[in-house]
Amino acid sequence: MYYRVLQIKYFKPRTLEEAIELLTKVRNSRVLAGGTDLLVDLKTGRVSAEALVDVGAIRELRGIEDLGDRIRIGAATKLQELVESDVIARELPLLRKAVESMGSWQIRNLATVGGNLCNASPAADTAPPLLAYEAELIIVGPRGTRVVPVTKFFTSYRRVALEEGEILKEIVVRKSTWSGWSYIKLGRRSGFTLSIVSVAVLASTRGEVLEDVRIALGSVAPTPIRAYKAEEYLRGREVGLGVLERAAEIAKEEVSPIDDVRASAWYRREMVYRLTLDALKTSLRWS
Ligand SMILES: Cc1cc2nc3c(=O)[nH]c(=O)nc-3n(C[C@H](O)[C@H](O)[C@H](O)COP(=O)(O)OP(=O)(O)OC[C@H]3O[C@@H](n4cnc5c(N)ncnc54)[C@H](O)[C@@H]3O)c2cc1C
Repeated sequence: MYYRVLQIKYFKPRTLEEAIELLTKVRNSRVLAGGTDLLVDLKTGRVSAEALVDVGAIRELRGIEDLGDRIRIGAATKLQELVESDVIARELPLLRKAVESMGSWQIRNLATVGGNLCNASPAADTAPPLLAYEAELIIVGPRGTRVVPVTKFFTSYRRVALEEGEILKEIVVRKSTWSGWSYIKLGRRSGFTLSIVSVAVLASTRGEVLEDVRIALGSVAPTPIRAYKAEEYLRGREVGLGVLERAAEIAKEEVSPIDDVRASAWYRREMVYRLTLDALKTSLRWS
């Protein structure tokens, strides 16, 4: 493969204000976090930049905190820190399971959760769990701070709701009680590989009735998505194999996958059915 020789200015601000000022004033500048997506994209020419603003030294962007009713994750927190966090294991096991499957230990030690979301790949592994948890994203920029629900963050293929000079500061997840969860990632290899299809499910039951359910899917549409129609069908129904199979059918109808190097659109659709059914069964401890 042909790689370009790059000449790029590099800045490492210590505060968010400084970073926003640089992104606003320096022409064609981009946020650099772990660089595991961005540096590859710069070298292959998929994106260009004249300056990089490394956010790794900004303390406000780091760390995982239990704030009582919610969990706060700094956008520049490394994926391996999420895997090793007791707070994430206890409160957001669905997210932990997804992050554990990402890259290798070396990649997870560089890559950040914010980078995974802002890179906006339909295959981003942190997206389905955060869509299912209905996380809120705190974004700061030249015009101040705003909160964007993650369900509104992915706007179209490889595009997110970030405006010029804006930085994703943190991810906030409100605590809620779920009786079961499941994350299933199908890749070309058994682990540490980009997904062909991924499914995240959270479920809450009262007796035999499914009180609430969330289903999020990766790699099967231009953006990571929620299967809202399948969720709506399931809510309030008594759990049974026929009901779960119908929900998986509906999820299959909600996706719009493409053929690419990892799999055909046909195969992805079939796997949405199978993996959604499996994830629902696991979440409901249904055998
Ligand atoms: C070998 C290998 C294996 C991988 N395996 C997986 C995998 O299994 N699953 C998966 O989902 N991904 C995988 N990836 C992709 C990548 O590692 C992840 O997407 C990673 O989380 C990106 O984070 P980063 O910190 O490296 O982002 P960077 O590369 O630094 O940035 C990515 C993009 O996000 C922007 N950005 C970063 N942080 C912010 C912020 N706080 N605010 C605004 N914009 C920001 C950057 O400007 C850039 O456009 C893999 C990559 C490699 C090289």
